Amino acid sequence: MHILVIGGAGYIGSHMVKFLGRQGCRVTTLDNLAGGHRDAVLHGDFVQGDIADRAGLDALFRGQHFDAVMHFASFIQVGESVTAPARYYQNNLVNTLNLLDAMRDANIDKFIFSSTAAIFGEPRSDRIDEAHPRQPINPYGRTKLMVEQVLADYDAAYGLKSVCLRYFNAAGADPEGELGERHEPETHLIPLVLRAASGRRPHITVFGRDYDTPDGTCIRDYVHINDLCSAHWLALQSLLSGGGSQAFNLGNGSGFSVQQVIDTARRVTGREIPVQYADRRAGDPARLVADATRAVAQLGWAPRYAALDTLIEHAWRWEQKVLLRG
Ligand code: UDP
Repeated sequence: MHILVIGGAGYIGSHMVKFLGRQGCRVTTLDNLAGGHRDAVLHGDFVQGDIADRAGLDALFRGQHFDAVMHFASFIQVGESVTAPARYYQNNLVNTLNLLDAMRDANIDKFIFSSTAAIFGEPRSDRIDEAHPRQPINPYGRTKLMVEQVLADYDAAYGLKSVCLRYFNAAGADPEGELGERHEPETHLIPLVLRAASGRRPHITVFGRDYDTPDGTCIRDYVHINDLCSAHWLALQSLLSGGGSQAFNLGNGSGFSVQQVIDTARRVTGREIPVQYADRRAGDPARLVADATRAVAQLGWAPRYAALDTLIEHAWRWEQKVLLRG
């Protein structure tokens, strides 16, 4: 089985490439290295290229057959999507259309798409399941929802089968310590907290402590990167065995506040973590927690690393490795 992983040099993609390698798959990574790292691709072939380049995609698809495509390459910063929406619509929507049309011409009809909890907008329930209204409140979420809608239409018209996986807060690192989060600039909570623990940053800034939550800080559903990989694997099996297009919310169903993340990181690392408090960050809902019942029931998904301690331990191992490498 030959899988094309778009964005396989990025955070989630690189873990997926390793996971697929362990399953015995042949893998090709296509990545433009705008945010990814060549040395994070631990398995298979690597092609440096961009999904905006139709001729490049056609050449890649002429040269070999792919059984399925996994698409991880997108811009992911909510705040930036508000100030620079053109970048987001171009990259996340238009370039993805380009990819889908090249796939159509090459008769590749299985697609796994990295979607997001941001497609739901303001939560209207404690846990968000797939029936929750989809009303994104920022361009990032809109680009992802638009692709989901395109995929539904492409299935109806062209028979392209897809699985959309809506991640809540992807976090953690390879349990074997070979891979981890390497965004620059880093904006995500857990790596920033751990940079404050290691001394790479002077402190962690908490955005808002006046939310309507028990300790006043935002609650999120942190899901381990390897558990996301296992969900992709199950989604792939479903498509390969003739399953239809579907969408799944992926989270642990338990929320942790920013303060709880910091307290857990203090315990796991044994380090001081200086904290500063700042105003709320625009566009942050108080609480975002998944109901992943459907993924568990229909895909047989069984997250292995649901404990926040484990997730932070793995991310901390990676932070220490990065620090040693300099
Ligand atoms: N957060 C924070 N300080 C930071 C980064 C994030 O307080 O330096 C908060 C943020 O407001 C949100 C939570 O941590 O409530 C998770 O944010 P992150 O950017 O990691 O993921 P998001 O929820 O935006 O996908």
